[in-house]
Amino acid sequence: MPEQQQSVEEQLRERKRELDMMTAIMQVVGGANSLEAVLEQLSGTACTLLHAETVAIPILSSDHAHYSYRAVVGRQATQLPETELPISEGLCGWVMRNQRPWWCGTLDSLDEDDRAKWQHESGNLIVPLAGKQRSIGAIVCLNKLDGEEFDQADLDLLVMFASHAGIAIENALAFDALRMSKNTADAYRMRLEKLNAKLIQANNELQFLTVHDALTGLPNRALIVDRIGYGIHNAARNEQQLALIMIDFNDFDEINQTVGRGAGDDLLLTIGERFAKLFDDNSTVGRLGGDEFALVLPNTGLNRALEVAQRITEVLQQPVDYAGQEIKLRASMGISVYPEHGDNASELMKCADEAMFTAKCNQDTLQVYSAEKNPDNDDHLELTRDLLSAIKRKEITLNFQPKIDLRTGKLVGAEALARWSHPLHGEVSPAQFVPILEQNGLIAEFALQVLDMAVCYCKQCERAGYEISVAVNLSTHNLSDEQLPDQVEDVLAEYELDSHRLTLEIAETMVLDDYLQSIEVLEELSDMGIELALDDFGTGDFSPGDLKRLPIKQLKIDQSLVSEMLTEHDDADTIQSIIDMAHSLGFETLAEGVETEAVLTALGEMGCDLVQGFLISRPLSNEEFFLFLKNCDWIVASADAA
Ligand code: C2E
Ligand code: CA
Ligand code: CA
Repeated sequence: MPEQQQSVEEQLRERKRELDMMTAIMQVVGGANSLEAVLEQLSGTACTLLHAETVAIPILSSDHAHYSYRAVVGRQATQLPETELPISEGLCGWVMRNQRPWWCGTLDSLDEDDRAKWQHESGNLIVPLAGKQRSIGAIVCLNKLDGEEFDQADLDLLVMFASHAGIAIENALAFDALRMSKNTADAYRMRLEKLNAKLIQANNELQFLTVHDALTGLPNRALIVDRIGYGIHNAARNEQQLALIMIDFNDFDEINQTVGRGAGDDLLLTIGERFAKLFDDNSTVGRLGGDEFALVLPNTGLNRALEVAQRITEVLQQPVDYAGQEIKLRASMGISVYPEHGDNASELMKCADEAMFTAKCNQDTLQVYSAEKNPDNDDHLELTRDLLSAIKRKEITLNFQPKIDLRTGKLVGAEALARWSHPLHGEVSPAQFVPILEQNGLIAEFALQVLDMAVCYCKQCERAGYEISVAVNLSTHNLSDEQLPDQVEDVLAEYELDSHRLTLEIAETMVLDDYLQSIEVLEELSDMGIELALDDFGTGDFSPGDLKRLPIKQLKIDQSLVSEMLTEHDDADTIQSIIDMAHSLGFETLAEGVETEAVLTALGEMGCDLVQGFLISRPLSNEEFFLFLKNCDWIVASADAA
């Protein structure tokens, strides 16, 4: 009995030790939070607890179709497969499928085939692992140490162990899934935050752009109007004034043409920066568009505005250095003041704009708005505005006046003369509107339009069977435009007109203005095969030496000399000496403004080569000129009609 009692006590002690161990390990397992750590600790504990050679924990895939060994400790650790196995395979698969533990005692309950199949596994102990919700896998003990066999008590111990372990693993699995979804959620949140930050930035940029000018970063028209409105509101409350200065550059189109658009933009940027530095925080400098800037000066009357305008003029007088080239800018400014000239933003803008426009037309730098109307000035302003929009809308047309060669009796060409019909005032002479275009920097655009129409018409004549040339008048400003030769070439190429069939007429005075520069451009044009005529000759004072260097073909004797030649002896003498000198230099002569038979005869006797004038024909519209070609008595060379 004492011996029996001693053995029972020993067994109880043993059990207690095992339970203590399990409690301890369960606490560790409860504390560990990664699946790998939990599995590692469980397999280690089971190994010690059951004196197993090897302990492994296979875990089922989520679809319960496969399992893989996720933790292995002990002697045969390296022999277990690392790959995923189908649940139909192996004794572990059998345990998991049947949810029955395996030990040597299980063999007795199997049929003969299975018993033969699993006989060799009788030394192992496998218990299914289940959580609260589902089966998880199994826990496998391979061979007991020291040659012993796993018995019923070992099985019971492992079953109990597995019931705790299953829950611990299930928790860890859930925790892992939770952590994974937390990571995904974190990553998603971070992406959202980044996206949000980008969106906020884009929105800020958009907001900035809606009220700022993209090129200079200065406030745009909308913000300027807003600032004027706000300024007026404050000024009204505090009984103050507010001044607005509008600044518009002259010839900016030409600058763009000369240095290129990109460089033009750089210039505007530099100017914008210079302006921005000039003024305090209270004032606003903005770009209204193109080459137009505005300056809003709160708490400022006319006198201070004039001082500021003076400072702007000084800033503009410093040339801008662009790629080693000094570019001088000229601008016209208009000033309006609250409350004298208006009590809202749009009125002040309108007044400053009008003042600026007046300054420009009068070629002044500065003009303060004046409510007093000067009818002449107003007419001029209106005409200028209408003209500028006519150019933009391409409303200018051409007339053609024939040129006759007296030596052959042939109609050799036509001079293209610009025509603008004002909706109210009727025909406006090019002699009147060309200078306005020069002042407003639109002469280059105008020249291109004329060139395009003239070359196009000449090609039409050719297609209709008339081989004539066309002459286009240029203005002084066109000759300082380095892009002109390329543009002329493009137009000729577009209409496939031979360059010999184009004559460019340049006035004597414009060549004299900048003789050397003109020669360069003229030579370039002449090298292209274009013929050049010196217009209005006899009005300037060219020396034969200067004349000799010009690559021209024709001298056009000014009509003021021609019209008086039969009444003024001096004029006849002048014409005769012009003809003689021209011939000695190898130029042909054309007399303009021939109105009578008598003049025509006299010119013929003097040896003049060509004539042009009302006697032959007035300048004619496209259709009229076609009819003239068809019905006139002059010989018109025929082209191979296409
Ligand atoms: P211009 O080049 O000397 O042109 C001749 C002017 O004399 C034309 O006046 C023409 O209509 C006029 N005319 C022609 N035959 C006679 C005549 O027998 N008697 C009289 N009294 N006049 C005659 P228009 O068309 O008014 O042109 C005036 C000036 O305007 C032109 O003088 C030319 O300098 C300029 N112009 C005309 N078209 C253009 C153009 O497309 N571009 C440029 N830059 N200037 C042009
Ligand atoms: Ca002419
Ligand atoms: Ca002329």
